[in-house]
Order: sequence, then structure tokens, then C-alpha cells
Amino acid sequence: MTRPEAIPAPLWHENLYIDGHWQAAASRFAVHNPATGAVIAEVASGGVAETEAAIAAAQAAQPAWAAQPAKARAAILRRWHDLIVANAEPLARILTLEQGKPLAEARAEIFYGAAFFDWFADEAKRIYGDVIPSYADDRRLLALRQPIGVCGAITPWNFPMAMIPRKAAPALAAGCTMVLKPASATPLSALALAALGEAAGVPAGVFNVVPGSAAAVGNTLATDPRVKKLTFTGSTEVGRALMARASGTIKKLSLELGGNAPVLVFDDADLDAAVAGTIATKFRNMGQTCVCANRIYVQAGIHDRFVATLAAAVAAMRLGDGLAQGVAQGPLIDADAVAKCERHIADAVAKGARIVTGGKRHALGGSFFEPTVLAGATHAMLIAAEETFGPVAPIFRFEDEAEAVALANATEYGLAAYVFTTNHARIWRVGEALEYGIVGINTGATSYEGAPFGGWKESGIGREGGRQGIEEFLETKYLCIAGISPLG
Ligand code: NAP
Repeated sequence: MTRPEAIPAPLWHENLYIDGHWQAAASRFAVHNPATGAVIAEVASGGVAETEAAIAAAQAAQPAWAAQPAKARAAILRRWHDLIVANAEPLARILTLEQGKPLAEARAEIFYGAAFFDWFADEAKRIYGDVIPSYADDRRLLALRQPIGVCGAITPWNFPMAMIPRKAAPALAAGCTMVLKPASATPLSALALAALGEAAGVPAGVFNVVPGSAAAVGNTLATDPRVKKLTFTGSTEVGRALMARASGTIKKLSLELGGNAPVLVFDDADLDAAVAGTIATKFRNMGQTCVCANRIYVQAGIHDRFVATLAAAVAAMRLGDGLAQGVAQGPLIDADAVAKCERHIADAVAKGARIVTGGKRHALGGSFFEPTVLAGATHAMLIAAEETFGPVAPIFRFEDEAEAVALANATEYGLAAYVFTTNHARIWRVGEALEYGIVGINTGATSYEGAPFGGWKESGIGREGGRQGIEEFLETKYLCIAGISPLG
């Protein structure tokens, strides 16, 4: 396809990236701009053979990569970070073109993603082991931390420029190599990142990208015995299936899965901060984030003012092509995403909810959907149980703290939760009682590369980011050295 003028040629790739080579495949799949529906690229579609070739390349490259001094691996990761930052503008355009989010959000994602290379470049130098007090005079005991080996990675379409670095940076810092299957909606971001990795000096075979059939590529990564670790971000449904398939070879797993995030707004909250924080978590990326507010519980005393203020702010949001100036909300990723919003709204209204603003497809057509606020939501509604993954904000009224915590925890998910209150005792009580991996207090934005990101319950296993993030790519080895005779 024709490359957009604003994107430099070295960042625009439509082929597989295996063993340091750009390769065509027998078939191709179309990538669409969700704002216009236009086909913007025809990307080579990898299958079992290409995935196996990438795994072989990753396996061959791994010992030499792991043998490089940590400082050398760190220098390459730092260069990768610097190149992403230097190319932030065209990378943001690629992201908006294939994903739809407003350019300002895309730029923020580029810097957030790059920061993982910076953070883990440093962590590469801090993979410490232990010296264990011995149980015998002639023995010395050590615990080494070593790279697990070849890693398979499968990533979603909602934050490609962040989800890929969040996996690749710690894996490579640890001395692992990787075969990545990006989401079929957003392969161009992954391929652009690979191109910058190559320019930064990542050796051939260390980082491979195989876009293509979820079943063929994903299944091979989950079952091939040469892959020692599978790291997946996506839906709980697919994560569950991958976990079952990976059990055949007892792979180490990281699963970053779906969420059903509650927001708790107490009577003593700062109203403006609560509304701003709710908008930040509910409407970022048009509500298509795993840490997205899905249920908004508001205490009776502040309820009506909160609903009115939130609805006014939501009604004022400008929709449009993410590349246009001043756009706050882009399109949803596809028609299925629109249908899910419609289904959740229809079900809620049938069960007594009231549409305060929005509620239907936007006049712009395509996959544009009106940002929506619903009042009178209850736990009888689908929207309380399922992740909407769209710009629909259902408000539930509650009376007291215990009720709010019980409602917030009444889900099999446990990724992110948010609390708005000015009462310090409540911050502790509620913060500790929530069964979630991430709790934002008086904020709707918590992500930071130096903090552990991950879910409880069916929202996943493992953590990405922070010092915990590199643990996922390491194995422990106990060395027991015998026969050390006494001095003299
Ligand atoms: P998805 O349908 O689960 O897809 C995610 C990835 O898995 C894509 O690369 C997809 O490939 C692949 N895939 C789909 N079916 C597969 C299969 N049977 N075997 C192997 N791979 C398969 O999720 P999504 O719709 O892209 O993303 C939205 C979901 O991700 C939401 O539930 C969201 O909460 C979750 N998410 C979680 C986090 C987190 O950190 N916890 C972050 C972001 C998103 P194709 O694209 O080719 O289908």
C-alpha cells in the first residue's frame, strides 16, 4: 500500500520481521483506519511455519544475547528508548491511523511505552541473586537469577505502543529473546517498534514480530516446547484458552486480562476532582482500556451533583478523526465494539436505567459512538457484570461505605479500582478492602513504568512494570557447591 507522506519509510513496514529480516508471506490481511474505514496497509500474514522459524531464530540468538554484559544490553535498550522518543510524532501518527485514538493520546502512549525501555535498561543491571548461609562447613550455597529463554508474546490493539514495550523491555533486559504476535487491528505499530529496535542494535533473532492468524501464530506460541514463557495481554476468554494450551508444556505465564473497574465516589469527595478523574479513566481511548471505569458508584449525598457535572462535561466532548485538531474522542475500533455498547445500553434501559447524555451511534457514522452517561444502574444489568469496553458510564447510587466496597468487589475481575474521598481513614480502609491489583485514590490515571501493573482474580497472573516486571522473565537456580576444604 502507499505509505502516508508524514511517515518516514524506515518506520512503515508491512512484512514479518524474523531473524533480522523483513519477510513476505503467502497471504496478507488488511489494516483499516477506524476513523474512515479505509484500508491503510496489507500486512503479511504469518502462520505456523513462520512462527516456528521465528522461534528457531529466537532460540539461536538467546545464548549470545544473555551472555552480553548487562551493561551492553542496557545500552541497546536505552538507544531503543531514545529512537522511539526521537520518532514520537510519526509513531503517534501510525498509532492514530490504525487504532483511532486522538493524536494527543497517541503521543502520550509513545512516551509511556518508551519509558519501559528506559526503566528496564537500568533494571538489567540489578538482577541480583542471593548468597545463602550454608548448612555445612564444606558447602557454599547460592541462588542465581537467569533468563528463562525464548518468550512468546501476544498483545491487544488498544495500546500497542505501550503493551509491546511493557513485555519486550523486561524480557530483553533479563536476557530473554521474544517472538511477538501483535493484534491484527494494529500490526503497524509493532513493526515500527521492531524497525527502531533493529536501528538501536538489537541483534537479529532477539526480537521477532509475526503478525497473522490468532489461531495459527497464537497456538504455536502457546504449545511449542522451545517457548519457555508466554506473556499475554487481552481478554480473559482468550487468556483462559491460552492457559489451558500452555499447560501442555508447563510454560511460565503472565496474563494481563480483562477488567471491570469500579469507581467509588464518596460524599466527602472533591466533586471536580472526582468528575475529572472519572473522565480520565472512563473516556481515555474511548473507554477501550482494561483499567477503564466500568461501574461508577456514587454516594447518595453527592449523587445528583456528580451526575449533572459529569454529564455536562461528557456532552461537551468533541468527536472526530483522531488526526484532527481538538478532538477528544475518536471512533471505536470496529462495528462489534459499537454493537456491544448498544447491547449494554438497551439492556440497562430495559431494566430501568435513564440515559442522561449520549446513548446512540454518533452522527459521524462508522464506528463513532456518543459518549454516554446512564443513571439508575443496578447489578441486575449486563453492564455491571461485563466489560463494556466503550464510552458508556453507568452510575450506581449507594448509601454507605460497606455497601460500596461489597458492590465493588462483586465481580470475578480484579484489575483496577478508583476511590474519591478526602477522608484519610477511609483511604486506608477502602484501599485495603478492595480486591484489586491497582487502586487509584483521588486520581483516574495510575500507570507508571516503575510501578507493578496487574490484576487479581480473573484479571490475570503476574505483573508488568516496576522491579516485579523483570521477575516474570527470570528463573531461579540454586547452586550447592560441595567439597570446599577448610583453610590451611
Ligand atoms: P483479545 O481478543 O483477547 O486479543 C488479544 C490478542 O490475542 C490479539 O493479538 C489477538 O489476535 C490474540 N488472540 C485472539 N484469539 C486468540 C486465540 N484463540 N489464540 C491466541 N491468540 C488469540 O483482546 P482484544 O480485544 O485485542 O483486547 C481487549 C481485551 O484486552 C480487553 O478484555 C481488555 O481488558 C484486555 N486488556 C488487558 C490489559 C491488561 O493489562 N490487563 C491491557 C489491555 C487490554 P487477533 O488480533 O489476531 O485476533
